[in-house]
Amino acid sequence: MPDKQVIVIGAGVGGLVTAIQLAARGLQVRVLERAEAPGGKMREVAVGPHRIDAGPTVFTMRWIFEDIFEAAGARLDEHLELEPLSIIARHAWSEQERLDLHADHERSVEAIGDFAGAAEARGYRAFCEQARTIYTTLDPTFIRASRPSLMGLMGRCGLSGLGNLRGVRPYDSLWDMLGTYFKDERLRQLFGRYSTYCGSSPFMAPATLMLIAHVEQEGVWSVVGGMHRVAQALARLAEGLGATIEYGRDVTGIITRSGGVRGVSLADGEQIAADSVVVNADPAALTSGRLGADVCRALPPLAPERRSLSALTWCLSAETEGFPLARHNVFFGRDYASEFKDVFAQGRLPRDGTVYVCAQDRGTDGNGAPDGPERLFLLLNAPPRGDRHDFDAVEIEQCEQRVFSRLEHCGLRVRRDPERMVMTTPVEFEQRFPATGGALYGQATHGWKASFSRPASRTKIPGLYLAGGSTHPGAGIPMAAMSGRLAAEALLADRRST
Ligand SMILES: Cc1cc2nc3c(=O)[nH]c(=O)nc-3n(C[C@H](O)[C@H](O)[C@H](O)COP(=O)(O)OP(=O)(O)OC[C@H]3O[C@@H](n4cnc5c(N)ncnc54)[C@H](O)[C@@H]3O)c2cc1C
Repeated sequence: MPDKQVIVIGAGVGGLVTAIQLAARGLQVRVLERAEAPGGKMREVAVGPHRIDAGPTVFTMRWIFEDIFEAAGARLDEHLELEPLSIIARHAWSEQERLDLHADHERSVEAIGDFAGAAEARGYRAFCEQARTIYTTLDPTFIRASRPSLMGLMGRCGLSGLGNLRGVRPYDSLWDMLGTYFKDERLRQLFGRYSTYCGSSPFMAPATLMLIAHVEQEGVWSVVGGMHRVAQALARLAEGLGATIEYGRDVTGIITRSGGVRGVSLADGEQIAADSVVVNADPAALTSGRLGADVCRALPPLAPERRSLSALTWCLSAETEGFPLARHNVFFGRDYASEFKDVFAQGRLPRDGTVYVCAQDRGTDGNGAPDGPERLFLLLNAPPRGDRHDFDAVEIEQCEQRVFSRLEHCGLRVRRDPERMVMTTPVEFEQRFPATGGALYGQATHGWKASFSRPASRTKIPGLYLAGGSTHPGAGIPMAAMSGRLAAEALLADRRST
């Protein structure tokens, strides 16, 4: 049995990027994926004759992918067609209250001025400035660093950087900080929602997450053909470099000997030898013992109470009327605090939740509404309790009623047909991403220490590494890709040193 090979468990973004990096350096890489397609959360769902993106829909930080393709001797634009969006998102609170954020900063300033007044528009300018400062402080020192350490961050910032460190606002909550820029609750809601990009509550997440506003301002793209194409392109690139990807392969254990990794065992009983294993499954699968007792202490325990958000999602093909959908649309509930209290404190579906709608046939400027049914993806935040609560039909039906009433309150009527609708609950997310309870972004970023306690690439077991959105530097496609790169770098450095 070849034992010099690297096994990657999972063909999510992080796993695929690790495979690309290692295969490009000539290592023998075998990716084992339990699903039938690459991408993990970046999946698509069949609804009648249509394919609908059922995971990520917002593509940012394209330069990370340009770097990954370039380092592998390829070009991103030869593998994927990306179109920049001119409307980043359309937000609604009622039929009369709508606000677009634009790729063009000045247009957003103007729109906010028209929506909420000149003082709020000035607040927005100051907010964007601060978001940029936070991003530029953290990008070289934290996001690209292999370990999420506070000391490391301070060291890399240098003495003069200590001021910068306070400037990244780790000790203020995002919600409180937004109150210093905006008096209008709706704008606090709009920008507070960025914390949900890493599955967290704006009331508990550090104000540091303002940096996401800057990331979106640097560009949001739509992927021609759907987001799932990103996963397919990464998988093709990995295979082109010599990695193999095997689907329908469920890894049930990681084998260790003399304290180091020796291979993996699969559900069908096969054992495969390897001297390095990269886990792209959620790290909770390790700590919960799902991948064997040998490796459950490979990293500190991950408390279920600290899980990030799960979601209830609907993929549907339906006719719509009454609201000019853009590609990305957010329909806010009135009481943001109650939404997060329901989900995080009460562990229940929100009674007045915010609904995200991706209208996947709409163009980059929101034009191009199709005649007849269109492809929609709806998302509602949900508690990560898919392993302890069954979310029964009555509970789901009531929630669905509330979701579609929220849309109607803002003017959007959706003629839905249960035959052309596929729903995913936290229970199904738990089945797809074992030991998570359906949490989609690892541990929640609540409190200033959260970012520093995310699992890093290296574990306590030699030869065992982690990659993915639940590890450092964080959730989201670009961050998961970055983690894949960090895992490959750690593995290569360790091989060189031994
Ligand atoms: C509904 C939704 C919306 C989102 N929206 C956005 C967005 O708009 N923009 C954005 O940037 N991010 C978004 N995200 C987050 C983003 O999708 C994730 O952070 C990212 O895709 C995670 O990648 P990953 O590398 O962690 O792998 P994952 O996607 O978690 O994949 C892990 C893979 O490992 C496999 N696996 C697990 N266990 C085993 C095993 N034992 N054996 C074999 N294989 C196994 C799984 O089948 C899976 O394919 C969203 C996520 C969801 C779910």
